Formats: sequence, C-alpha cells, structure tokens
Amino acid sequence: MSLIAPGSVIGILGGGQLGRMLANGAQRLGFDVDIYCPEEDAPATRVCRRHWKGAYADAALLTEFARACDVVSLEFENIPVAAVEIIEATGTPLHPGAKSLAVSQDRGEEKAFLNSIGIATAEYRLIDSDADIAPALAALGGKALLKTRREGYDGKGQAWIRSPDDVAGAWERVGGAPCVLEAAISFEREISVLVARSSTGETATWAPPHNVHLDGILATSTAPSGLPLEIEHDAREQAIMLVDALGHVGVLALEFFVLPDGTLLANEFAPRVHNSGHWTPEACRTGQFEQHIRAICGWPLGDTLRMFDAEMVNLIGEAGLIAPSHLEPGDVLTLYGKRDARPGRKMGHITRLLAPRKD
Ligand code: AMP
Repeated sequence: MSLIAPGSVIGILGGGQLGRMLANGAQRLGFDVDIYCPEEDAPATRVCRRHWKGAYADAALLTEFARACDVVSLEFENIPVAAVEIIEATGTPLHPGAKSLAVSQDRGEEKAFLNSIGIATAEYRLIDSDADIAPALAALGGKALLKTRREGYDGKGQAWIRSPDDVAGAWERVGGAPCVLEAAISFEREISVLVARSSTGETATWAPPHNVHLDGILATSTAPSGLPLEIEHDAREQAIMLVDALGHVGVLALEFFVLPDGTLLANEFAPRVHNSGHWTPEACRTGQFEQHIRAICGWPLGDTLRMFDAEMVNLIGEAGLIAPSHLEPGDVLTLYGKRDARPGRKMGHITRLLAPRKD
C-alpha cells in the first residue's frame, strides 16, 4: 500500500458537515478535496476544489470522479454498495470499503456481525412482518424498541413498544419495512469509542466520551466519561477488534450502552467520523478528521492523547442561529454553513475545554 502524498486529491462521497470538516482536515495537511453528492449547496461543496453533482447511481460520473482522485472516502454510510463497486472498478483506492458499509447499512447484519466476533449487543429479533412483533416482544421481556434495518438515523425509523397495546400500528409507524426488535436496555450511560485504522493496519483509539441523547439525537459528548478506566479500556479493545475484523480503513465510531454493573453492550457503529468525536480536534493531540485523512493515505497515525477535559454541545435547529455576542470567550464554535435551521437539524457545535487533563 503506497503512501498518498500531500498535494494529491482526496475525493469524498457525501456533502454534509462531516464532509466539510474532513475537507478542512485534509486541506490543513496539504491535500485538495473533491466532493461528490447530489445536492446543490451542501456544506462540504462550499469548501472543496470541485463539486461533482450527481446521483450515486450515475456510473459514468462516479467513474470520472474516481479517476480524478488519488483516494476516495465517504462521510455517510448509506452510499449504495453498487456505487462503491463502481469506484473500486476504476482502481482508485476507496476507504472504507464495501465490507464496513454493507455490515453497517443493515442493523440485523450489524448485530449478527458484532456478536460473531464476541461483541455483545442487546438481545434482538429480526422482524419481517407485522405478525412477527408480538411473539418477539414476549421473548424479549415485554419492552422493546422497533428499528428499521436500513436507513434509520438520529432516532428516525424507530418505535417504542412498552406494552402489548403498543404492538398495533408499530409496523406502520416505522414504515412497514424489515426491522429488528431490540430489548429495552436500562443503561446507566452511553459512551462511544472513536477508533482509527490505517491502510497499514495501525490502530488508535481516543478516550471514549459520555454521550447524552435527547429525542434520539446526540445532545452532548463529554470526556472523560466518568467511568472506571478498566471499562474504558475494555470498550477501546472491542472497537479495535471490530476494525480489525472488518479490515476497516479510516475512523469508525462504536456506540455502547453501559449497564449499572459496568457491562458493555454495543448499540451500533458508524464506519466514519462521528458527531461524538467532534471535541477531539480541540482537546486531543490529533483529532478525528485529521486522523481519518492520515489513515486513508497510509500515513502514520497521530497521537490521540486527550489533553483537556472537554464538552461538546450540539447546536440543533434554532439553537444553530447562535448570536456570536452570546459566546463565552472559551467557546470553540464550529458552524456547518447550513442555510436554514429546521427542527432537529444539526447546525453546528460548541466545544468547551474545561480544564487540562488531570488523570
Ligand atoms: P440508535 O439510532 O440505535 O443510535 O438509537 C438512538 C438512541 O435511542 C440511543 O442512543 C439510545 O439513547 C436510545 N436507544 C436505542 N436503542 C435502545 C435500546 N435497545 N434500549 C434503550 N434505549 C435505546
């Protein structure tokens, strides 16, 4: 695997804020960045060398894009696997590859894969029709969460079933598509591990943040998590097992529920940079965006040491219309350049460095 040199062109599939921050990280290391996405005016398209505006099914344009790039990556995991195959056929390296995407795109396959490599998850059942729900609910203890297998994010495509009365209509509420029914977990807190694996096989993890969700959307990520270091270490080891098993190249985020007795249950993983890692550029020696670029380019990974206690606060919907005069001097503000603040839309985030790290 050859090293991709500064001055090369990095192509990114997807034009959202993660693509924008990846582009910023790549530009700092001397790369040019091209963005491929169907939307006009998406956040990443306004900071790139060239916006390739096209559908993920446009084989001719995808091929031309891949040929113009030295390496291609992605900023969201629901890129059709067919598009990935078109890019791979050009010979331009694509990281992460089809395996990481295919497994993460289907919650059923994702849980089966995690369990197959020894990573525990909530108990679950596959649901293929309305009639499957009642028996699965009984088997899972009577309280469960129905989640579509594909294309759910930020709590979308999910319905709680807290009693047999909730079964009627649940299948319709999630859109009548194949689902998993997951046992409800009484977790003490949620954490995530950001892990990077380079094309040379080198791995690195960051200290896992404590994540708080509101209405299924990440609200804050705080590091340190407050958990004993042994539990954090266990979570970090599991994330390394996962990227090794997938042959993943790039950053990946593995989310966990932590039970009151310290048991870790994996919830899901995202094969990309992640919202719960947005505090890393300011609080750690190397942040997730720069690390992802290093990983896909075969560079040595940077040191992930956390230097500060930090808190990341998402600016969602109207909160994203923040008046600069309301900022505290220590607030590090990142805005994604989105034109309108729809409810639930991630508009930006603030990172606060609380104190130099003591532990
Ligand atoms: P997800 O889209 O799977 O990340 O779910 C969004 C959020 O819903 C999670 O971060 C949890 O806060 C909550 N959640 C998801 N699955 C479960 C579960 N099985 N039990 C309890 N809460 C859950």
